[in-house]
Amino acid sequence: MKITALTIDSCVMRKEDPTWAFALAASPITEGWIVSIHTDDGMTGYGYASATAHMGASMEGMKGTLERLEPVLVDRDPADMAAIRVALDRALSGNNQAKAGIDNALFDLNARMLNVPISRLFGGVVRREFPVLRILAIKKPDEMAEQAQILIDQGYTYLKIKVHGEVAEDVARVKAIRKRVGDDVHLTIDANQSYSTKNAIAALNRMAEYNIDLVEQPVRIDNLKGLKLVTEQVPVAVEADESAGSLAEVAYLVEHRIVDAVSLKVAKLGGLWNTMIAAHICAAGNVQYRFGAHVGSRLLNAHAMQLAAALPEMWYACEFGEFARLLDDPFEGIEVVDGIIHLPEGAGSGVNPRRDTVLSKAS
Ligand SMILES: [Mg+2]
Repeated sequence: MKITALTIDSCVMRKEDPTWAFALAASPITEGWIVSIHTDDGMTGYGYASATAHMGASMEGMKGTLERLEPVLVDRDPADMAAIRVALDRALSGNNQAKAGIDNALFDLNARMLNVPISRLFGGVVRREFPVLRILAIKKPDEMAEQAQILIDQGYTYLKIKVHGEVAEDVARVKAIRKRVGDDVHLTIDANQSYSTKNAIAALNRMAEYNIDLVEQPVRIDNLKGLKLVTEQVPVAVEADESAGSLAEVAYLVEHRIVDAVSLKVAKLGGLWNTMIAAHICAAGNVQYRFGAHVGSRLLNAHAMQLAAALPEMWYACEFGEFARLLDDPFEGIEVVDGIIHLPEGAGSGVNPRRDTVLSKAS
């Protein structure tokens, strides 16, 4: 079997709430590309490539990258995934988000060829259901408390509070939300790099009074000394997200015990294979890991879940439900019910294009 073509289709999803904002960006849409890899016997594997500007990938740049990488794939056996990874890295270094789309499509294709779910390729399933952590966008404290209650009423029990670096205002957000949702709901914070080291320590020691499980990326991406200091000075688990943007960075964070936990993201790390390695690095170094937000199509979330299902040490709740606040998804097959999402059945990622989705054919 040989790969004959890679085709791409834009995937622009409107946000239900067009005012959705966090410390790094505010946009009414979520952008990405559906990557389809076609073979000479008529099979297709699908991947999703996130065009996330605050992670360095633009829609236009990613299109050029994917088109440039197509010839590296054509005429190869899709089962030669390791050789293809090496060839892609030789052809163009970096570009993790575009490569994640290709990696995911190749895993989908290989699993479909074998008629097994992708999880089988990672060692089989150790869990089939995941509690979903949902994100609260930055708004006024009472508005965020209102949004929190809407999610709790839908069955969610894990919430992430986006904050933006103003200590008093951010503490007020946490206080308002805790007061509104009661003591049984799990609360986490994501500062998206917005605090100075000392303000992070001050804010988190005050927020801890409201029982916070986890804080994500309190300080700037390259402030690793500050990040370590925060980890040592607050009674809340500290997690790296933006600072954990590659395997080398994950290895460094673990080796130097800079954080308590790492947020794994398939797009950020360049695909399922690298994300699996990152998880194993964390496990070997006694640092916790879980899957962070996979904002985009159900296709991306299904891929991430197929890997997460096969990782025994994973802790806490994952962010596999942000698609629920996006419209126009070209894929279907998973939904969050009562705050829980189940691993889909079936071959490949377990999700498929909707009946009315039109994707490019191999020419
Ligand atoms: Mg984050």
